[in-house]
Amino acid sequence: MLGDMRALSESEIRNSFENCSHGEAQRLHLPAHWDRSDWQSMAFLGWIDPKSPHRGYVVVDSPSGARGIVLHRVQHRGRPTAQMCQFCLTLHGGTGVSMYSAARPATKKERYSSLGTYLCSDLGCSEYTVGSKRPEGIRQMEETMTIEDRKERTTDNVRRFIQRLSDRRGR
Ligand SMILES: [Zn+2]
Repeated sequence: MLGDMRALSESEIRNSFENCSHGEAQRLHLPAHWDRSDWQSMAFLGWIDPKSPHRGYVVVDSPSGARGIVLHRVQHRGRPTAQMCQFCLTLHGGTGVSMYSAARPATKKERYSSLGTYLCSDLGCSEYTVGSKRPEGIRQMEETMTIEDRKERTTDNVRRFIQRLSDRRGR
């Protein structure tokens, strides 16, 4: 169906990373049971590193193949007001949303440059998008979109962020 994610192989996932070294991408920890993922219900593959909780990974399929990025969670205190994930537009209270930062693909000039965005702390956007997971105790926006449309919107948001990251001129 339109919007369904294509099942990705381990090498596709590892070779998709655009903002870390090849060696790092070969060594990074895949999510537990990733090979049994229910790809069809996902907008993209997002997970927290099982060994280092401040690192996260996002891999999205695109017309030009899988594109992945490494993200670093910037610690922050929970906020009293609800915040919205910029990928799946889910509202979370407390520490449900975190600031994540992604390094731009390294070039000599912009080696230290990065881009930040607010995302679901657990990177469970795919599950929030299809409603298999819901933040507790917080009312979501009323939406009339179908799940397929929501998945497409989430996928688009991820692709746009990765594109912005790799675009040298865009800020
Ligand atoms: Zn999200």
